[in-house]
Amino acid sequence: MARFDDSILEDILTRIDIVELISGYFPLKRAGRNFKACCPFHHEKTASFMVSADKQIFHCFGCGAGGNAFHFLMQHERMEFPEAVETLARKAGVTLPEKKHISAAGQESVTQIYRINELAARFYQDALFDEKATQPRMYLKKRGISPATAREFKLGFSTNDWDRFLLFAKSHGFTAAAVEKAGLALLRQEGGWYDRFRNRLMFPILDAKSQVLGFGARVLDASLPKYINSPETPVYVKGRHLFGLHCAKDAIRQKDRVVVVEGYLDCIIPFQHGLRTIVASLGTALTSQQVRLLKRYTRNIFLVYDGDNAGQMAALRSLDIFVEEEVQARIAVLPAQYDPDSYVREHGLSSFEALLDAAQSVFDFRLTALCRKFNSKDPEGKSRIASEMLPMLKKTKNSILVSEYIKQLSEKLSVSESRLYEELKKLGEAAPYAPEFGARKQAAAPVNPTEKLLVQLMLAETSLIEQIHRHLVPEDFSDQRTGKIVEIMYEMLAQGKAFEPNSLINYFAADDVQQLICESSFLPETSLDEKERVATDCVNRIKDARLKQRKQRLHDQIKEAQTEGDEKKLHLLMEEFHMLIKKG
Ligand code: ZN
Repeated sequence: MARFDDSILEDILTRIDIVELISGYFPLKRAGRNFKACCPFHHEKTASFMVSADKQIFHCFGCGAGGNAFHFLMQHERMEFPEAVETLARKAGVTLPEKKHISAAGQESVTQIYRINELAARFYQDALFDEKATQPRMYLKKRGISPATAREFKLGFSTNDWDRFLLFAKSHGFTAAAVEKAGLALLRQEGGWYDRFRNRLMFPILDAKSQVLGFGARVLDASLPKYINSPETPVYVKGRHLFGLHCAKDAIRQKDRVVVVEGYLDCIIPFQHGLRTIVASLGTALTSQQVRLLKRYTRNIFLVYDGDNAGQMAALRSLDIFVEEEVQARIAVLPAQYDPDSYVREHGLSSFEALLDAAQSVFDFRLTALCRKFNSKDPEGKSRIASEMLPMLKKTKNSILVSEYIKQLSEKLSVSESRLYEELKKLGEAAPYAPEFGARKQAAAPVNPTEKLLVQLMLAETSLIEQIHRHLVPEDFSDQRTGKIVEIMYEMLAQGKAFEPNSLINYFAADDVQQLICESSFLPETSLDEKERVATDCVNRIKDARLKQRKQRLHDQIKEAQTEGDEKKLHLLMEEFHMLIKKG
């Protein structure tokens, strides 16, 4: 999180009201000094999602989600940290320092490309719905696209003129060179420019915020090339975007699943028939950037392959992306000769959904394909299948899944599980080969309760920080996490900084630390006297524990020195031991 200066993050947080921010997404009810609602991050009937206006923090006592305004956007909008910072900075009117890789001039040209793209999308759309443009609308009709759907996807038409858009863009104050930069004009050999897209149905590619990134364009007849696309520009990068995301994102989040197809019409036609959770990858295989983009909305991905190329797809290493990105991908295969567009038009959406229901996991899909290709009964076939499947398992981080897959593979190949684990182990030591249960998150030990309570008191009552500072150093805390929080609190105190728990969270990535800080904002109200009394009690217990620990360590060292017969060392250690006892 070092990309932003702490003072900037604090500046943004002081200008944003978290209650107002969250109220923009769902209603909050007042509950004493706080606000509450049913948690948007887990299913519940009684409200355990709390927002503190004083501390500018939210926390769910049901599922443990929590944090400051940045975390709310990260979790609710599935934004990455920098994006959440940028969004709130804009809202707060805080100017962020320029990113190193984009100069001010570069940023300006990016903004200009968006503006030109936006202008072009409107221009092409108007041309499609122009009374005289019967030909493209006939084509839409032939392909079964309704005018309402065409408007929803902002489809358009580029007329068969050499420079119609160029002239239009110029009349809006853009230079031909700028239009070329946006990928919408080409340079003539003899000088001058002309429109890149002519006499084609236009499919604008939009991001989740409905900004136009680029275009795909299809001919209306049988001429070639059938499709042409925008070239790569500073805003349009191949394999980064998903067609239809701006239409589908809300449904995807709501239904917690997404269907990924390949082409524009494969996406548009099922969408029009009522499948609102569909996007197109605009390429045969999803890239890891696209998977990461989808992960903001769901981890359940359904891929639809044509029967004709399913076999090839199974062999693709690109399936490993889903394993690496820890998403659940399932694969539905269409009958040969069909694509999603033609299938839905001929058989209807319910048949298509039945195919989705029957979708196989990536593991099953690949295993089935391999068993068709190799003989799973003879030794050589077994070894081929295992050697294709195991690298994928090696990348699987979830050990429960690994053990489940090993079991299935063992049954399918009639090879013992231990033999497969052995082979898996040979692939590299990093493999989570042992079937240990429990996700990684659970591996973190619970925070020492006394230290946790003290830290929470310090967070709730910042005047305590100075008092505690006189009695304890960060090293006195047995838990590194509480020690680190205390260290930062002391540092802020020394710098004379106003201390706020919501900015403190910016220092920590670990969920359990965030949770500890968030919970502290909702401690029951008690008097300062009461807090001081409990804090003193905690300090004493922490000191005792520390003393006990030191005594134990000295005790062990003395024993060691005795066995070694090191008289000098023994003498020094004994002296230290007596000092400790006297102090205690
Ligand atoms: Zn919750």
